Amino acid sequence: MTGAVGLLDFLAGSGPQKAAVLADLDGCLISGAQLLPHALDLFDRCGDRLWIVSNNSSDTADTLAARLAAMGFAMQAAQIVLAGEETIRRVAQERPGQRVAVHAAEPLCALARQLGLITDHNAPDVAILARDPGFCLASLTRLTAQVARGLPLIVTNPDLNHPDPEGHPVPETGALLAALTAAVPGLAIPTVGKPRPDLLQLALARAGVAPADAVFIGDTPETDGAAARAAGVEFVLLRRPGTLSGTPPEAQPC
Ligand SMILES: [Mg+2]
Repeated sequence: MTGAVGLLDFLAGSGPQKAAVLADLDGCLISGAQLLPHALDLFDRCGDRLWIVSNNSSDTADTLAARLAAMGFAMQAAQIVLAGEETIRRVAQERPGQRVAVHAAEPLCALARQLGLITDHNAPDVAILARDPGFCLASLTRLTAQVARGLPLIVTNPDLNHPDPEGHPVPETGALLAALTAAVPGLAIPTVGKPRPDLLQLALARAGVAPADAVFIGDTPETDGAAARAAGVEFVLLRRPGTLSGTPPEAQPC
């Protein structure tokens, strides 16, 4: 990846001294359930100036903070901004009390109910597509029919994949969206996460820091880099983990 640097290189420069250090999650700080090298050094250096800004659409900030704590990374939930959670919060604010087909992992479904939305896959007013571990052909068939009939759909993030610890691709929300757009061509579907600048802007607003006084580090130019540019924040491209050698893991049957 041209121009990419290691986290150790970033730590050696002036970037960690910025008023806000915004960091992508997958391929930057963690890979699956593993902390990546020097992630703890970044945390120790930046303290409460460090923010996680991620297209993660499986966790809430609370569940992610708990997962990170189990890895020894004691990040405050208030310093975590996630595409999935922000999508649910946005729908709850714009469509209070409505029926929502939430295609997502349980933490996001629970958050939707907690915010007063009614989760309903049969007769929804709107649908949300996130990285749903239970998404299958039946889900795709039902969502295809609903969207083709005009059901509004909001997608948490367009990422096709993120890297596992060896660098092999793990399917992301965008892979599910690709299946839907293959079935229903011509859809124009709004997304919330990067490359839109919204998540970075939310973190900066919470931090009370101007874009010029922040830096964003991430491993994906098409999403992280584009979001940083759109938000007016300096971007540092990090080298992805893994070597892409060896055999990809076998798929598990449904
Ligand atoms: Mg990433």
